[in-house]
Amino acid sequence: MKRLGPGAAIQIDVCTVMTKGVGRLKRIGVLALQGAFVEHIAQLRRLDVEAFPVRLPRELEGLDGLIIPGGESTTISRLMREYGLMAPLRKLAEEGFPMLGTCAGMILLAKQVSDINVEPLGAMDIAVRRNAFGRQVDSFETDIEIPVIGEPHFHAIFIRAPFIESARDGVQVLAQLPDGSGVAARQGNMLALAFHPELTEDLRLHGYFLTIVRGER
Ligand code: GLN
Repeated sequence: MKRLGPGAAIQIDVCTVMTKGVGRLKRIGVLALQGAFVEHIAQLRRLDVEAFPVRLPRELEGLDGLIIPGGESTTISRLMREYGLMAPLRKLAEEGFPMLGTCAGMILLAKQVSDINVEPLGAMDIAVRRNAFGRQVDSFETDIEIPVIGEPHFHAIFIRAPFIESARDGVQVLAQLPDGSGVAARQGNMLALAFHPELTEDLRLHGYFLTIVRGER
């Protein structure tokens, strides 16, 4: 085996600086423990980024952002604990690492969740209600206005969706339903959506997340 001398160490540093350079393709992880991660990866690949499934803490290395998909928030939070992801994800969130949570992913980003069976990351100052729309309207689709992405309205697919009950100062609510329920919010580099943009052809919300990742917005 070849031993690395001091010169080699310097070279590695130079490489690291180069690969972290501004112009390179962004690398986005998608938490792949359960739920709709395949669709997010497909969506990201349509944009100019590299997308990787993440199951283990070491797979978080070298990423520029992370998507937490929809699925079952109770299951995802249990698996996050079992796979040792809670602490590294909380640390990244504190450091301002960009994260997008959709549906169950939004629940996991919240500080407060209506259900004690979910242990969220607590990355955003929002209180979220699980399965907030009740049985009759378990799932529905509707066009919503999201000013940060402009016109036309976004066709939002809600599947046993949560909504944002309250948000503290520092959280920007990006979209609401006509009854006032919060369904999209941003805080720093965190973005939470109650619906499923990965199930549509519309790339604008993934694109918006990438502008956050690139530090453009
Ligand atoms: N109802 C699910 C939960 O509470 C979320 C549904 C979804 O992600 N589509 O975890």
